[in-house]
Amino acid sequence: MVIKEAKFLMSNTRVEECPVPDKPEYAFIGRSNVGKSSLINMLTEQKNLAKTSASPGKTQLINHFLINNEWYLVDLPGYGYAKVGKESRESWRKMINYYFQKRENLTCVFVLIDSRHEPLKADLEFINKLGTMGVPFVLVFTKTDKQSAAKTDSTIAVYTRKLQETWDELPRMFRTSSAERVGRDELLNFIQEINEQ
Ligand code: GDP
Repeated sequence: MVIKEAKFLMSNTRVEECPVPDKPEYAFIGRSNVGKSSLINMLTEQKNLAKTSASPGKTQLINHFLINNEWYLVDLPGYGYAKVGKESRESWRKMINYYFQKRENLTCVFVLIDSRHEPLKADLEFINKLGTMGVPFVLVFTKTDKQSAAKTDSTIAVYTRKLQETWDELPRMFRTSSAERVGRDELLNFIQEINEQ
């Protein structure tokens, strides 16, 4: 897929105020610092479409972008911020759950995982929740340039093992490096294939 146009539309805290759900929507989510903004900027070929984390965890907004006037890209607030209190975590959980339940055009969630880190409880809980809710999702292992391919393989193997404990079917898994532009074509082709179905 060629990105001809990528523009920011709006930021929301309320699902009801999101853009009219008339186009397929792809949402990106992950722990703070996982490389989400860098990945969105790489995909859209813009330096600063998604802001690289200036003040992590401060605002919890659903950010909509319109790509090629054809599909929505959504930058969801991340989880796992050390500085965020219990109350804020709970409001994040509610907003995200509501978004997953109500956003009828939601087509796929890209769950970003730092390819250097083995799963923490919160990561697995989050992934399992998507599965339980029946939300289509894939896993994206980020920052693969930071280590050997073998180390990335081993992180992916651990995730695979853990998910096999619960699920018969495993999600698609992608490897990306925004620094080296790895995985861009794979992710965009994946989106294009779904959009053309
Ligand atoms: P976010 O908080 O998930 O939006 O993460 P950012 O995109 O702001 O990235 C967090 C940090 O990781 C920044 O210092 C980025 O420069 C760095 N980073 C993100 N993606 C990559 C990558 O693919 N490779 C490398 N080496 N660094 C990355």
